[in-house]
Parts: sequence; C-alpha cells; structure tokens
Amino acid sequence: MAKSTDKCSFCGRDKRDVNIMITGISAHICDYCVMEANEIINYESTGSKSKKYPSRLELVKPVEIKKYLDQYVIGQDEAKKVIAVAVYNHYKRILQPKGKDKPEDVEIEKSNIIITGETGTGKTLLARTIARLLKVPFCIADATVLTEAGYVGEDVENILTRLLQVADYDVKAAERGIVFIDEIDKIARKNDNPSITRDVSGEGVQQALLKMLEGTIVNVPPQGGRKHPEQKMIQINTQNILFITGGAFDGIEKIIASRLQTNVIGFKKEQERTEFNKGNLLQYVAPQDLKRYGLIPELVGRLPIVTFLNPLERDVLIRILTEPKNSLVKQYERLFEMDNITLTFDPSVFDFIVDKAIEFKLGARGLRSILEAIMTDAMFEMPSESTQDQELHVTLEYVKSKLERSGISRLKVA
Ligand code: ADP
Repeated sequence: MAKSTDKCSFCGRDKRDVNIMITGISAHICDYCVMEANEIINYESTGSKSKKYPSRLELVKPVEIKKYLDQYVIGQDEAKKVIAVAVYNHYKRILQPKGKDKPEDVEIEKSNIIITGETGTGKTLLARTIARLLKVPFCIADATVLTEAGYVGEDVENILTRLLQVADYDVKAAERGIVFIDEIDKIARKNDNPSITRDVSGEGVQQALLKMLEGTIVNVPPQGGRKHPEQKMIQINTQNILFITGGAFDGIEKIIASRLQTNVIGFKKEQERTEFNKGNLLQYVAPQDLKRYGLIPELVGRLPIVTFLNPLERDVLIRILTEPKNSLVKQYERLFEMDNITLTFDPSVFDFIVDKAIEFKLGARGLRSILEAIMTDAMFEMPSESTQDQELHVTLEYVKSKLERSGISRLKVA
C-alpha cells in the first residue's frame, strides 16, 4: 500500500502518477495541482483587479485607423486601406445589436485577413499597430511550428493559450483580440492535388485551423503544451477574434502572371491587352492564386480579405529610419537625452545606412543592427564621461570608422 507521504495532499494522486511531488512540512503537492492553483490565482487576481484591457470596444472609423497606422507604418497605403476597412467591419459586426426584435437581421461574416509580402515589409507591424489602437490583446503565432493534434509540434489551440496569457487570462478580452499567424505560406500543401499520404504539418494544420478561424468554442490549455485529461481547460469562443495571417508566398508571382495572361488572352486582341505593372505582381494577388499556391479552398474561404505589401524601396527605408512616431532615430535620440546628450545626425548618414542595408540584403530589420553597430561605442563611453550636457553629431566619417571597426560586413546575407 502506498504511504501517505507518496500521495498529493490535494488530489490524492500517487507519486508514481505525477511528474513532480513537492513536499512541505505536513503536506505534499503534485505538479498538476500546482498548475491548477496557479490558474486559480491568475483567474482570481484578474477578476478582481482592474483589467488590462477595457471591457468595451471603441469603434474606430477606417480613415482614423489609417491615420493612426500612418504614424507607425511607412507607405503600404493600399494594404492600410483594405485592412482599415476590414477591421472596421469586423468590429461593427461584433458591436451589431443582437436581439429577438431583429430576427431578420443580415448576418455579417468575419473579415479575417491575409497579407502577402516579402519578409520584413511590415506585416507584423501593421497587425500589432492595429491591436494597439483598438486596445485589444494581440499575439503572434508561427504557422511553421504547428502540427495537427497528436503529432510532434504545437497544437493549434496553443495559439489561443498565448492570446489568453497576453490578456492576463481575461477571457472576454481574449475573445475580441487579434491573432497574427505568420508564415501561413509555409503550410501550403506541396502540390496541387489533395494529399494521399498524411501531411500533418501542411494540409493537416490548414484543416485544424479552419474551425478556429471561422468561429467555434475551443478548449484551451491555460498553460499551453499538450492537452492531458487532468488539466482544466478554459473555453474560448473564437467567433469575434480577428485572425490576420501573413506570408511571403515566394514564387506566387508566376501563378499571378499566368492567371493574368490567360485572363487577358481570349478576351482581347493583342494590342488591347491591359498593361500590368510587372514590378510588383503581388498587387494583383487574388484568392485563386492562394489556392494554386497550396492553401486549401476552405482556408482561403475563411480569409476573405486578401491584400499585399510592396517591397521596401530605398526612399521608404530612409523614411522608416526617421519618420515613424517611434522611429529608430527617435529612439536613439531619446536614449541619449536620458544621459543629457544631444544626439544629431548628418542627413548623409541616413543614405549611407540605407545603402548598407540594401547592399547586405538586410531590409528594414537590418537598419537596427547597423545603427546599433554605429552607436555602441558612444553609448558605452559617453554616459561616464561627464555629468554636464554633451553633444554628439554623427557624421559620415564617424559612421564609416565605427562600421569598419565593428566588422559590419559579417551581417551580410549571402
Ligand atoms: P514582416 O512581418 O513583414 O516580416 P515586420 O512587420 O516584422 O515584417 O517588420 C520588421 C521591422 O521592419 C519592423 O519592426 C519595423 O521596424 C520595420 N518596418 C518594416 N516595414 C515597415 C514600414 N512599412 N514602416 C515602418 N517600419 C517598417
């Protein structure tokens, strides 16, 4: 017979049936009960304290949404407009009065979004900025780590665990949050035909995502990880969660081009063909292209708003450095200001940094690494040099000398 010291004093489980048993002065507690106690504490503390997210949604009009986005995201006007309208409609749908007196009401469908565009062009930034404006919980999930339930990898429900954690376990707030699913293109099925063998990380995940995107009640493990029978689940209704998905869709241009060609031929004579801007074919992306790329039709159907981002040109990269409300340059100026140092830049420095980012194929993300390499010496030395007000004017010579010493070319993408 098991001794009482081998059992959890809370649930009675035997030591052999648990992973960890913690022993106190006169009681024991198993890891399952610790987790459950943690959930209760989280639930109770968020229930009684003031909440992180307001309980009422504030409807923001599309023009205002775009204006807000303009402060943080440079360019990408078409995507901003499409997303602003989709978000507005999504939240109008949530706020639409429901009642018995309106049985004939039109049911508005969800406006989940798919953003196509090269990596580093602002997909995540757009989604995150909208969530901040609306004051709703926001989380990012990576489609590549997801697998169909029961296989090695993360279950799709874990996406909602993250949202719940961001919302401090405030279920109501999580239920109107925004989830950004990145790299959705990586779960495309590998060929155009439905798979004969099981494709647990591609088509299988697409299938698993369907219900969640459409709106259903999902049992979510509060701490994430695999579901196990003892774990208490939290139910989340995904009906009002806005899903924004993003992907680079490498090579989709060919699919778009071939569709545009076949559409044109057959209807018009050669000389009447519409001229397409070959520079960025992504601007013509349509749901059928996503299907041909390998997203299953049901998934494409649940992501009805399709938009695109432009590759970042040189002038846009320069604006990204200086213009956004929290631009990199403004952030460094603020950091130096805290040490009473007035930081200024010669405009030629920005051109140089952007040229390096382009040369090294680093995109907008690289701007940060380059600036960091330039500023590290000053950030290390200057705060200890004097308590008096100081000035640092960054010139092209200064930048070149710092970059040479830092071996910035290591960052170069092959
Ligand atoms: P993606 O999700 O498309 O891979 P991100 O949104 O993560 O790209 O962008 C990476 C970083 O590059 C952002 O954090 C931001 O600093 C910068 N960035 C990219 N595009 C823009 C843009 N259009 N305006 C302002 N900053 C941008």
